[in-house]
Amino acid sequence: MSVLETRGVRKRFDDHEVLRGIDLDVAQHEVVVLIGASGSGKSTLLRTINLIERVDDGQIFLSGMDITDPRVDADRIRARIGVVFQHFNLFPHLNVLDNVTLAARRVHRMPKDEATARGRELLDTLGLGGKAREYPDRLSGGQQQRVAIVRAIMTDPELLLLDEITSALDPQLVGEVLDLVRELKGRGSTILMATHEMSFAREVADRVVFLKGGVLVEQGTPEQIFDDPQHPDTAEFLARVH
Ligand code: ADP
Ligand code: MG
Repeated sequence: MSVLETRGVRKRFDDHEVLRGIDLDVAQHEVVVLIGASGSGKSTLLRTINLIERVDDGQIFLSGMDITDPRVDADRIRARIGVVFQHFNLFPHLNVLDNVTLAARRVHRMPKDEATARGRELLDTLGLGGKAREYPDRLSGGQQQRVAIVRAIMTDPELLLLDEITSALDPQLVGEVLDLVRELKGRGSTILMATHEMSFAREVADRVVFLKGGVLVEQGTPEQIFDDPQHPDTAEFLARVH
């Protein structure tokens, strides 16, 4: 079964239809990368999946459950999805360990001892063990974003949504964040991510999905999309960003 299935997802803001019938599947352990020009609808799609935006039409299934059904409890669904955005959004008044464990304790009701042990273990294995007691403003942007990723995986989410997580970083800090995404892929995470990092998409994606104007124009393996795009809009976009 797919972890994620979107069927005919439509979203409009006033008279602007931003998602125009998106059908997208993400299988367990799959890394799917969304590419497309600014404004093509990547973030809106991720926000509908996390129920930050309500779809106007269509369905979204998380492990087979229709999460667009108005009767579902959005907080319970969000607890099953890990999310990292462009801006790290760590709490400045909490140290790294407390940032990482807060949602796990409050939202997921993980006991404090368990959350602390799990947070420490993840920080250690992901190269941030020495930072557990630091406050966010003492960390580089790349370290802050890695902490945000650790926070997102504290409760083993079924699906991880990553939206342009390197876009706000200085170029020399991008690599350490992408290394962590590689690590998560190696651990079997299921990931849907939007990125401008085409070389990273080529290396790490199982599947690349090209959006234009809220339409899923083309999808395929990185080789298919980057080396042999079938749709002229895909070729035109790639020629522009390369
Ligand atoms: P991308 O992430 O691919 O750059 P977005 O999903 O952010 O694209 O935006 C797609 C379109 O939707 C853009 O034209 C954007 O201006 C518009 N949009 C996104 N969010 C809103 C909103 N809350 N209100 C009005 N328009 C929005
Ligand atoms: Mg975006």
